Amino acid sequence: MILLKNVLKKYKTASGSLTAVQDANLTIGKGEIFGIIGYSGAGKSTMIRLLNGLEKPTSGTVQVSGYDISTIKGKELRQARQKISMIFQHFNLLWSRTVEENIAFPLEIAGVGKEARQKRVSELVEMVGLKGREKAYPSQLSGGQKQRVGIARALANNPEVLLCDEATSALDPETTDAILDLLLDINEKLGITVVLITHEMHVIRKICHRVAVMEAGQIVEQGNVLEVFQSP
Ligand code: ADP
Ligand code: ADP
Repeated sequence: MILLKNVLKKYKTASGSLTAVQDANLTIGKGEIFGIIGYSGAGKSTMIRLLNGLEKPTSGTVQVSGYDISTIKGKELRQARQKISMIFQHFNLLWSRTVEENIAFPLEIAGVGKEARQKRVSELVEMVGLKGREKAYPSQLSGGQKQRVGIARALANNPEVLLCDEATSALDPETTDAILDLLLDINEKLGITVVLITHEMHVIRKICHRVAVMEAGQIVEQGNVLEVFQSP
C-alpha cells in the first residue's frame, strides 16, 4: 500500500541545504495503523508531505496506493491525491460554512450531484457522531467536534489512506481518546490505512499497530509498537 525506498529530502535554504529526511525505508500494509513519532524537527511533517505528494523526494521512491508519488504530476497526481486524505492539528475547516457544507465540500469539487451529496453527507455525519449538528458553524463546535468534521470531510470521497498530522495535539486527553476511538472504528469498518504523525507516545500506544521512531531526519527504529516501546 505504502512503500518508501531510500528516501532523501533536502530543502534549499539561504545558506545552502538542509537534510530533513534521509535513508528512509518503510513499508506500510493495507489496513494498517502506522505511527511516526519524534520530537519537533525530526522530519515527521516532511514525511507526511512526501506521502501526499506536496513534496518530491530529492532522491528515492515514494509509492502510495499503486501510484509512484515521487514522479507523477498533474492529472495523475490529482487522481492519486483523491485516494490520500488528510486531517490536521488545527482542523483546517471553512469557517463561514456549516458542518454539512464543510463535509460536502470535497464532494462538490469531485463533481458529485446534489442528491448524492446530501445522502453521502448524512452517512458521514452519522459515522462520526455529529447528528443534530449539521447546521452548526465551526465556531459553535468544541475541538473534538471540529475534528469529527475534519474526519468526515476526509472520508467523503472514500480514500484508501488517511494521513493524520498531529490530529489530536490540540485536544484535551479525554477528547483525544474519543477521536482515537473514532479512528480505530473507521479503520476497522472501512479497512482504510491510517498513517499518523505525533509527538505523543500515548497516541501511538493506543491505536498503532506499528511505529517508526524518527530522530534528526532518520528512522532510528521501527516495528511492532509493543516491541519498540517495551519497558526494560
Ligand atoms: P517535524 O514535523 O518532526 O517537526 P519537519 O519535517 O517539519 O519536522 O522538519 C524537519 C527539518 O526540516 C527541520 O530542521 C525543519 O526546520 C526543516 N524544514 C521543514 N520544512 C522546511 C522548508 N520548507 N524549508 C526548509 N527547511 C524546512
Ligand atoms: P484551536 O485549534 O486552538 O482549538 P480554533 O479551533 O479556534 O483553535 O482555531 C483553529 C484554527 O483556525 C486556528 O489556526 C485559527 O487561527 C483558525 N481560525 C479560528 N477562527 C477563525 C475564523 N473565524 N476564520 C478563519 N480562521 C479561523
